[in-house]
Amino acid sequence: MKRAPITLSSRAEQNCLRSRQFCGVEGPAVCSPLLNPGLVRFLTFLCVLCALCGESFSLDREAFSIQNYDLTVQIDPAQHRLGARGKITLRNDASTPQKIAVLQISSSLDWRAIRIADKPVQFLAQPYTSDIDHTGALSEAIVTLPQPVDPHGTIDLDIAYEGIIVLDATRLTRIGTPEDAARSSDWDQIDEKFTGLRGAGHVAWYPIATEVANLSEGNELFEVLARWKAREAGSIMKVTFAVTADDESIPQILLGGLICRDISFQATSQLNQRLLADCKSEPLRSDVPSVLIADYQMVEQRGFEVHYLPGHKAAAASFGDAAEAAFPLISEWFGAQREPAKFAELPDLDATPFESGILLLTPLKGKDAGSAGLSAAHQLTHASFLSFRPWIEEGLAHFAQALYLEHEKNRQAALDYMGLHRSAFLALEAFATKSEDAARDSLVNTVTEELYRSKAMCVWWMLRDMLGDSALKKAIAAYKPEQDKDPSYMPRLISAQTPRDLEWFFDDWVYRDRGLPDFKVESAFARKTLDNAFVVAVTVDNLGTAGAEVPVIVKFAGGEITKRLEVRAKSKATIRVETPSVPTEVVVNDGSVPESDLTNNVFKVATADK
Ligand SMILES: [Zn+2]
Repeated sequence: MKRAPITLSSRAEQNCLRSRQFCGVEGPAVCSPLLNPGLVRFLTFLCVLCALCGESFSLDREAFSIQNYDLTVQIDPAQHRLGARGKITLRNDASTPQKIAVLQISSSLDWRAIRIADKPVQFLAQPYTSDIDHTGALSEAIVTLPQPVDPHGTIDLDIAYEGIIVLDATRLTRIGTPEDAARSSDWDQIDEKFTGLRGAGHVAWYPIATEVANLSEGNELFEVLARWKAREAGSIMKVTFAVTADDESIPQILLGGLICRDISFQATSQLNQRLLADCKSEPLRSDVPSVLIADYQMVEQRGFEVHYLPGHKAAAASFGDAAEAAFPLISEWFGAQREPAKFAELPDLDATPFESGILLLTPLKGKDAGSAGLSAAHQLTHASFLSFRPWIEEGLAHFAQALYLEHEKNRQAALDYMGLHRSAFLALEAFATKSEDAARDSLVNTVTEELYRSKAMCVWWMLRDMLGDSALKKAIAAYKPEQDKDPSYMPRLISAQTPRDLEWFFDDWVYRDRGLPDFKVESAFARKTLDNAFVVAVTVDNLGTAGAEVPVIVKFAGGEITKRLEVRAKSKATIRVETPSVPTEVVVNDGSVPESDLTNNVFKVATADK
């Protein structure tokens, strides 16, 4: 017998179906009005239960941030072992009370205990696949709290975890990165000869709480990391490191993103000793806490230290000499140092360098003077200037590299260097036309390195070309990170140094991502003046979506003259340039303004006889 199509007559039936759909159970059968009312009530109850189950398993992993860490971390390099215990404070950042908290550490570590108010709490430990850790997975503890924590409320947890950390490039090799390259990139490990642990994004050696971050999903890892850093902004980390050592080795400890008040050695037996370091995070820095332990020796030079591995003194000395050349220029631009910059050697010659605040981890052997100077310009800038906004902090440090090249060589060398960076963000800018992306990908909001490093460097260079060195130096000197409460703070400091209206510039380049300009010389007409000179009228069309002030170079027999012209987005502007002899060619943009198309920038001048 055929059944008639079911119409859902009662609210209960409709609710039931919704519940079933929520549960992921398809089909209306159990919500049929043909069933007796008692059974419907029972099934509805089941549906509701099912819905609740669904809710309890849809974890909000980012509901809590960790506002305070107070950890003692034991590291035994010979055993590759790390054991940590201490207290953390969680804050509910969600808008509803939370009964479940998620804590994550590297998958090679295991949770040993979690207690609240001296009582053990229930937790479920499970592996969680995520590329935020080098192993490609995390050990997750799903903790049932004794009572819900209200929004903005906090709760203290005593925790203990331990395990081993060896070199592991799983997250990279499983997406097809060749083994050697993957190992040189994910070089974190605990080992007798060298221990290097970068924090979230590399090795979760301290607890974090994040949603899945998949390297094969575009920018996902960087977005998850950026969200984590934003939630952790203002959090305080106190760590006491206790490193096991024998009487033969004297390990040195170097920290990134942490400052150590006290480093000492303690004999634990006649043959063994412990290196103890009391460290604390630096307020206003957004660098992930990183720790390095090796038999480092040090050469100290003006403004920085070079920490090198045994047998590499010559490489360290030549690195130091090249780096020292950058010191006067960086002090002139960014003022007195807050602390010396630090360079620490990575043992793998092909290792990918990594920076954490004032500390740069890099191979030293085989580095030429040019790249040593460039590295120094960057880290010395961090040692003098501090901002938690990446486009300012990293943008200025890269800008300093271009300044260094100009100082050591010439302007063209700086422009060539920026040209290399420009190719990094050119492809991204091709898609920067949708309005919803314009704010998200703006320099003040972006989490994309190509933008807050490479594009920001070009923006600082353009500002310098527009305002001059002295005005920009004054704006930089006026910046106080503790007073930086909103994104317009730095633009306002810059605007205060010039009578010019720069709002359009900040709008196109900083507050929004409007893409890039595309300049085209539309026309260039020259005529002879009464005193036998020439005047050429150049009209530049900006076909692009961002405005800029761009150099216009007029070439003539025996030389060239450069003037600057402001051309807003989708607009034209004209400039008159006087030349001593017949002008032959006009070129717009010397490479200092990032542009989407450079093929239409040259124009042959037409000269009218008179
Ligand atoms: Zn940097």
